[in-house]
Amino acid sequence: MTKPDTKRQGWCPTLFEPMPAGDGLLVRLKPSCSNLSIEAAIAVAEAASLYGNGIVELTSRANLQFRGFSSSTVADFSELAVSLGLGSADPRREKIRNVLTSPLGGDDPDALFNSHVLASSVETSIASYPDLFALPPKFGFLVDGGGALALSGVRADIMIRAVGDLISIEVDGSSEFATCSATDAAEAATSLARAFVRVNASHDHPFGRMRDLVGSLGTRAIFDIAGLKPCSPRNARGGSNVSVSGLLSFNSPRYLAVSLPYGEISADQMIGLATAARTAGAGRLGLTPWRSLVFPGISLPDADHVKAWAESAGLITRPCDPRLQIAACPGSPRCANATVRSREDADFIASLDLPERNSVHISACGKGCARQTAADFTLVGNLDGLYSLVRYGRATDVPESHGLNIEQAAQRMRGS
Ligand code: SF4
Repeated sequence: MTKPDTKRQGWCPTLFEPMPAGDGLLVRLKPSCSNLSIEAAIAVAEAASLYGNGIVELTSRANLQFRGFSSSTVADFSELAVSLGLGSADPRREKIRNVLTSPLGGDDPDALFNSHVLASSVETSIASYPDLFALPPKFGFLVDGGGALALSGVRADIMIRAVGDLISIEVDGSSEFATCSATDAAEAATSLARAFVRVNASHDHPFGRMRDLVGSLGTRAIFDIAGLKPCSPRNARGGSNVSVSGLLSFNSPRYLAVSLPYGEISADQMIGLATAARTAGAGRLGLTPWRSLVFPGISLPDADHVKAWAESAGLITRPCDPRLQIAACPGSPRCANATVRSREDADFIASLDLPERNSVHISACGKGCARQTAADFTLVGNLDGLYSLVRYGRATDVPESHGLNIEQAAQRMRGS
């Protein structure tokens, strides 16, 4: 286990490199194909309570974060996760195994290909090239088969997507792409990653992400090094994400989605929800980048019980729930940088009668972890324990006012 280094910037926690936080050590679990069996979900949630503080978070990369471990318990949790098949036993391979995929996989008949099969091939392929251990920790892949829960608004350094009847290989920061068969897609994506590493090795100041390399070298040069031939640029893809908040579909495919307030669920809630979903016929749960858990294969007569259970536990099954409009980072006391209790303040804002379509971002410091894009209102916690208010912007933008407590900030937002 790597010793925590609290001064490191841009930390990307893994099972083997826990990140120190205000409430103890935090580890990130990256279930293969953004899915885990109901049994594994229950087992890992039980371990989160036993070894950590039982707080679980779903990230925008469809990973799970578990909080509140001590240096003596974190290894037990990681060992269990690996034994459940939820991580690689090799820390170097685990670090670069960043493959986000559409949650339904083969359960979606409208998808062009089974994204889970292809994502597994990508994981196998990148694990077999030791030169890829040099990839930056945030470098990631995306495998999107299209269909009901397409990841069209989500980006990654290297993307395999369904485009009409074709499979495209794309790099972030470019509208050019290559096409290939399902059989060749994983190897093509790996070739692009190896091209990134090769170019980086010859630079004194290595690039952190593919879009930086694209900006410096151009797409064609990168595709050339990878042995791929790009096609002409196409129109920019729409940036909006599919909303699966509280969505219940009984047509094709059949699944139930439950959203997590601000991306958080307790271990007890996770055990209860997974148990209820299993009773209703679900065998696995899919993780989405939209703060929702998806349960494919749920049976119609029992679905209402699962929804009722989730609602009574404080989770979200209604698309009109005001908490869906709010992004809030963990805040105080969980993050050492935080000066405000952002999630409690988010609940307060959600209880108000804000205009339905307003988006709100509550960031407990200027880093803005919970939302990278602009929101209608962004509240940023300052060292004085009060908020600054940014209108139509991000946490790093210039605020229109400072020194607001949450009631004063709410008043400004309602008065607009
Ligand atoms: S925005 Fe700041 S306070 Fe919130 S989680 Fe990120 S670093 Fe911590």
